[in-house]
Amino acid sequence: MIIFILLLLLSIFLIGVKYVQKLTFKNSLLLQELLKLNSQYATIHGWKKPFVRKYMRQLSTKNSYDNLNWNTFINEKINIEIPTFSLLAYHISEQRKMYFQYEMAYENLRHIANNLNFHKKKQDFVFYFLENYLYNKFKLPHPTFPMRLEYLASYTSPKGRNSYSKYKILYAEEFYQNFLINEEAVKKSQTESYRRQLERNKMTSKVRVAVLQRDNYKCRYCGRSARDGVTLHVDHIQPVSKNGKTEICNLQTLCADCNLGKSNIL
Ligand SMILES: [Zn+2]
Repeated sequence: MIIFILLLLLSIFLIGVKYVQKLTFKNSLLLQELLKLNSQYATIHGWKKPFVRKYMRQLSTKNSYDNLNWNTFINEKINIEIPTFSLLAYHISEQRKMYFQYEMAYENLRHIANNLNFHKKKQDFVFYFLENYLYNKFKLPHPTFPMRLEYLASYTSPKGRNSYSKYKILYAEEFYQNFLINEEAVKKSQTESYRRQLERNKMTSKVRVAVLQRDNYKCRYCGRSARDGVTLHVDHIQPVSKNGKTEICNLQTLCADCNLGKSNIL
């Protein structure tokens, strides 16, 4: 009997809460505007399909297991599927932008309402308290992109005596941060290889001949020439890979033997 009364009181209370909430919504322009705003941004939570990937790596030595570089492991996998991950990163960034806009509009609305009702607030204390409570309660939550990337590394000793494993999980936020950094690095390496290609393209036959003439068609290291049966190369003194330019002053005549012996060590 007591339980029945308690349940009855509880349901009356819940109905009462619902009713008060409904009444507040009905009388609050602010809350009605909020609902409109929320419906405008409803698609922000639209991406429901989870994106999950699992990657495994078996290390061959304990040492490589201990010194595993997670970043390399993670980015290798991302770089294999760049178009897919670029698309996901794009969605995440759009979602963030959209939510940022939503928050601006949300705060703006509250600000306008506060200014309008500045004088009424003291009289209608209960109403404005409820309105404020509901305004906070009905704010759209920050969207989370349903993404999970699992990276598992393991090592098993030769006779299977010991086995070790460790893992790392990336959710949307970490993936996004990581992706931005990785993208930056990829871009940088692309501009770097482009720069090298440009430098190499500057090595025309005209430049080549000018260098050979300046060096009297002789190797600058050993002094041999074509008459001694060697092939002459025009070589970068400071290598292109180390920012060397294709300019006469940075070029020298070397025979094939001396050139190969030189490599990039200098
Ligand atoms: Zn030589």
